[in-house]
Amino acid sequence: MPQAQATTPLRSVVPPARDWYVQEWLLLFFAMGMLVFLYLVAQHEARLQKSEIVRDAAVIEQSIARQLEAQQSFFDRLALDLGAKRLSLQQFDDVAGKRAIESKIVEEVLLVGPDMQTVRHTPATLALDSVLLMRAPFSEQARIHAFTQKTMRGTYSDPYSTTNGRWFIEYATPIFEEQRFAGTVNLLISLDNLLDASLGPALTQSYRAILSTATGGDISQRDPAAVGDGGLSHTVLLSVPWRDMRLTLYGSNPSSLLPNLTLSVAVVALTALMVWTVMGLRTQQRMRREAEAERDRVFRESLASLRQANERFETVLDSLDVAIYVSDLETHEILFCNTRFRETFPGYGVGARIHDIERGFTVDPTEKFPATLLAPGDVASQAVYFDEIEHRASQRWFLMRTRAVNWVDGRVARLTSLGDVTDRVVAERLRKTQEEKLTRTSRLMTVGEMASTLAHEINQPLGAIANYVSGCLRRLRMIGGADEQVLSAMEKADAQVRRAGAIISRVREFVRTREPERRPIDINALVVSVSKLMNSDEAERALTCRLELDPTLGKAFADQIMIEQVLLNLLRNAREAMSHLPQAERVAVVRTRRLDDNLIEVEVSDRGTGIPEQAEQQLFSPFFSTKPEGMGMGLNICRSLIEYHEGNLTFFRNADVGTTFRFTLPFAEDPQ
Ligand code: ADP
Repeated sequence: MPQAQATTPLRSVVPPARDWYVQEWLLLFFAMGMLVFLYLVAQHEARLQKSEIVRDAAVIEQSIARQLEAQQSFFDRLALDLGAKRLSLQQFDDVAGKRAIESKIVEEVLLVGPDMQTVRHTPATLALDSVLLMRAPFSEQARIHAFTQKTMRGTYSDPYSTTNGRWFIEYATPIFEEQRFAGTVNLLISLDNLLDASLGPALTQSYRAILSTATGGDISQRDPAAVGDGGLSHTVLLSVPWRDMRLTLYGSNPSSLLPNLTLSVAVVALTALMVWTVMGLRTQQRMRREAEAERDRVFRESLASLRQANERFETVLDSLDVAIYVSDLETHEILFCNTRFRETFPGYGVGARIHDIERGFTVDPTEKFPATLLAPGDVASQAVYFDEIEHRASQRWFLMRTRAVNWVDGRVARLTSLGDVTDRVVAERLRKTQEEKLTRTSRLMTVGEMASTLAHEINQPLGAIANYVSGCLRRLRMIGGADEQVLSAMEKADAQVRRAGAIISRVREFVRTREPERRPIDINALVVSVSKLMNSDEAERALTCRLELDPTLGKAFADQIMIEQVLLNLLRNAREAMSHLPQAERVAVVRTRRLDDNLIEVEVSDRGTGIPEQAEQQLFSPFFSTKPEGMGMGLNICRSLIEYHEGNLTFFRNADVGTTFRFTLPFAEDPQ
């Protein structure tokens, strides 16, 4: 299993909320900036309006003064002309009346006598009684009359209102006839008209203009509908002719914080647009944040489910009893392995080289799957190899199944599973061994039966031969003079017969007991005694045995007679293989040596004809013999006897000539 991936915390894709606060603050600053701007503009406007109203008030004041002065100088001259008689009364009426009408501010021109009596009036649009009602109060008439006479200059009355509520001032200019005061020319000037004429049509629309006395009483006012309350105002003192009269102008625009409607509307609209845009942005951001949060959530969920799936997958793989690994085809690097694998081969994991392990198998799977054979893509068609193989180092058996797979990164890799079948293989082997043991035992039984039968059958004639031979010997000795060679031969025959008898009785004994008698025996001593037997054979059949015995051999745990039989049989075969050689060359070498703590090895090596290749396979088969008289049972019985002792009997060709037969025997652990 690969190392668990470190869990990397997911980076949040949702922008932090503080970004948003920045926008809100910006918006707030912008709105405040706009308000300040509006305020400053309003201030500026107010200043402009103020200076405008001051200017206009001055203009109106000048206009009033100019108009009055114009009328004043005209009628002053008229009074002079009248006094100098340059003007008839009739002419006076015409000129003064015309002038009054043209001036628009002079309602009537009066000719007043020195006794303050009104002599005539012009342009005489009204009756004298009505005109007199428009004059100043009598005291004021007297005052200006006296003042004019005294100063010899024109004089204005205080403003006054008539009974119908109209406001006037009266101007009196003196008439002197040859240094004598001859009355006054009086002008009845309408203050309402004066104000109208001074304002002119443009200013009339812009201002509410009020003429007032020093005590605050309004004299005349012009109040256009467009001008409301609360506007800017400015008051000036009228320079002529009355120092205590004042003119007040009220502006049409109130001095509010809304200086210019268009500008204000534009600013407000701009701010609203900004707010709207920011709100839209905010909505968009919120939607994007929500979408991203959703995507984030889905991503986390799918990641979590992926992790779960991966954990499940790894849990399943790790709980398998089978070792599983994936390895690179070329580098042999382990790309993936489960827990079982790491337990089976400690020290190996992802990144290690699988080759080091696979080389230890009896079959190397890399040979079955050379990298060149596998092309990416069509791995399904790649062969699957499986077999039961042994891992030599651990001596464990595995059922290996290996095949090509497309690995996650696209390359072709090899997926191998190793099921540990050691227990089954061991059980199988045990069963096989037991079966073989049974077969061997039954073979031994068969051999025993055969031996028993043979012993029984041979024993009778052998007994007869022994009797005859010993009878002959006895008779030859009794008679005497017998040929010594014959006697010697007879004695040897007698000895051989006895030996044969002994062998047969041993065989019968073996057969009778059926069970071999295993005990610690000295193999070296056994070899010496058996080889003596061979040496003692007749000269032409004699075999010279050269012994190379291991003095440290120790004892084998075996049945002496059986091992004697085996050795005897091997030596006989050696002698027969060398029968074509002269006697001196008929030499068999018998070697003993200790293999290890458990085994003793005995070798019989000859320089005979050797074993033909075609005979090799059948050598140990029953009844296989190349000899005309041979029974073909010798080697078969020998192998049975050796295997019975848990040893084995093998042979090999000598490097130069002849054959060597070799058998092993178990070492007697407790030699007695
Ligand atoms: P037999 O000796 O009765 O033929 P064996 O079982 O002892 O039966 O031997 C079987 C055959 O093995 C022999 O016939 C012989 O061909 C061959 N053989 C055995 N030992 C040797 C040997 N040392 N050299 C050559 N051939 C041998």
